[in-house]
Amino acid sequence: MNLPQFFNNNLSELYDRYYKFVDRKMHLDISRSKPCQEQLDLSSELITCLNYRDCLASDGTDYRNYGIVDGIREAKKLFSQLLDMNEDEIIIGGNSSLNLMYDFIARAMTHGVPGINVPWMLSDKVKFICPSPGYDRHFAICKHFNIEMINVEIKDYGPDMDAVEELVANDESIKGIWCMPQYSNPTGTVYADEVVDRLAAMKTKACDFRIFWDNAYAVHHFSENPPVLKNILKACKDAGNPDRVVIFSTTSKITLPGAGVAMMAACKEIIEGIKVQLSMQTIGPDKINQLRHVRFLKNMDNIREHVKKHVKIIKPKFDMVLSVFERELDGKGMAWWNYPQGGYFIHLKTLKGCASEVVEMAARAGLVLGNPGTLFPYGVDPEDRHIRIAPTFPSVEELENAMELLCICIQIVTLKKYSD
Ligand code: PLP
Repeated sequence: MNLPQFFNNNLSELYDRYYKFVDRKMHLDISRSKPCQEQLDLSSELITCLNYRDCLASDGTDYRNYGIVDGIREAKKLFSQLLDMNEDEIIIGGNSSLNLMYDFIARAMTHGVPGINVPWMLSDKVKFICPSPGYDRHFAICKHFNIEMINVEIKDYGPDMDAVEELVANDESIKGIWCMPQYSNPTGTVYADEVVDRLAAMKTKACDFRIFWDNAYAVHHFSENPPVLKNILKACKDAGNPDRVVIFSTTSKITLPGAGVAMMAACKEIIEGIKVQLSMQTIGPDKINQLRHVRFLKNMDNIREHVKKHVKIIKPKFDMVLSVFERELDGKGMAWWNYPQGGYFIHLKTLKGCASEVVEMAARAGLVLGNPGTLFPYGVDPEDRHIRIAPTFPSVEELENAMELLCICIQIVTLKKYSD
């Protein structure tokens, strides 16, 4: 490679720094968004707060027994406030919202969506709009059911709505769109009111088109004055499309991931239909875990206070990532990043064609980041630019080193690719 002298000098310095990292034998995996131990400890009492004498509802129902397919009344009361829904518009499920999403789609395939009841699998094709970069597990569900994924750009205020409207108006095989409206994974996007209104009101060729509104980070705000997300169910009702949206959320990132409580909300008629379908799958969810969550989380004020404790632990980690990016990359035109207002991720963008090589190079020095392709349908980032940083799990010190290494890799890969 024939680099100008300036770049050659710079490159050899960067390689020196890189090999020092290789010698240090870092072992850090930040490929998934896991809370750190200190965060998990915030919910220790979740395990002990329930006593066997304390498992009765106010009407005497014993929650240790079978039944109540849509979840306990106390949990509906609490979590309907979290999602700003009516209590008859919510189902409280098991430990995983992803599981609720998967099951909803599986049932739509075989039995159709509630109210329409025409199995999607009878269509020649089923397609979903996938605003990207997005959540790999959404895309994995589509792939699993052979649902064709249509990539639509996610902009600062939500998906490119001109593209979405055009697609859904003209193609009856488009049955769904994935949305992560508050602090999207990984872009941190909060959907603007106009986007919510347009999603609610747009004309769709398929009458069984549904919005899959995955609001996993609904309360994960970093500041006292967070951006306010418009209520999609209200918007759908106002637009005359009350059955268009199914909302999902979870306490996975509030209490314990994998041992939290998942929930699903929709208009009352859809909820009733889901309950009928659900009753073929289960006699009832884990009501003891639901009750534990109600006892532990208590009320919305307490949930907000609990989230603040998480933020106190994780915000310095986000700040560290951002300060290393600023120190190492600012003004160099090699990468861009967002300043999230909440959620679990920082989104980093390299120049075209660099992201995979950067991630591979970092991995050779012991830093495991998610494969950039997985942020897109079919595992292919068409521009090879997007990297997801999940800063919550490591310590601030580990992150400082890891991000310095990442920035060195970005500079080496970019200089090699773009300077000749
Ligand atoms: N939805 C989003 C957007 C997520 O980022 C995650 C976890 O990272 C989940 C859902 C998983 O939720 P659950 O643990 O309830 O299945």
